[in-house]
Amino acid sequence: MSHQQLWAPWRLAYVQHSDPAESQPLKPNCFLCSYRDDNAANDSKNLVVLRGEHSIVVLNRFPYNNGHLLIAPKKHKADLRDLNDAELLETNHFLQKMIGLLEKTISPDGFNVGLNLGRVAGAGLPGHLHWHIVPRWNGDTNFMPILGEAKVIPQALDALQELLSKEMSSEAEPA
Ligand SMILES: [Zn+2]
Repeated sequence: MSHQQLWAPWRLAYVQHSDPAESQPLKPNCFLCSYRDDNAANDSKNLVVLRGEHSIVVLNRFPYNNGHLLIAPKKHKADLRDLNDAELLETNHFLQKMIGLLEKTISPDGFNVGLNLGRVAGAGLPGHLHWHIVPRWNGDTNFMPILGEAKVIPQALDALQELLSKEMSSEAEPA
């Protein structure tokens, strides 16, 4: 692979789960659908950060960098052209909101934001469309997500989920 290979157990778990049976975009194997359908009481365990009317935001369990978020329509849709106006609007509102939230909580210097459409483009879950938000810091290793390089993530995912949820609930309180 590359000189950037590091000990990164979350990527190892990902590789171990990439068997052909699981690479089919079947709904029962879709973690976005299962988190959507799970009880909201399990959101911290599932790393769900925000639930909207049409979409959800979750922390990527196999992050390329600290604070790597996924924003997905609730419906299991693979094609960008199948999203209706309400889904397009809310997912993009959530992109804005999450970029603001990450700036406030973990102070990145920049972001990579985008869609990987199709397995050839690096989509780990091609059946259920999702936007990536990857925070970037000056001096972090240059990378393209498609290369799949492992990085050491300094902040535990559950602590980060808690931090982001707490920040949002404090924003929601009346001044
Ligand atoms: Zn799904």
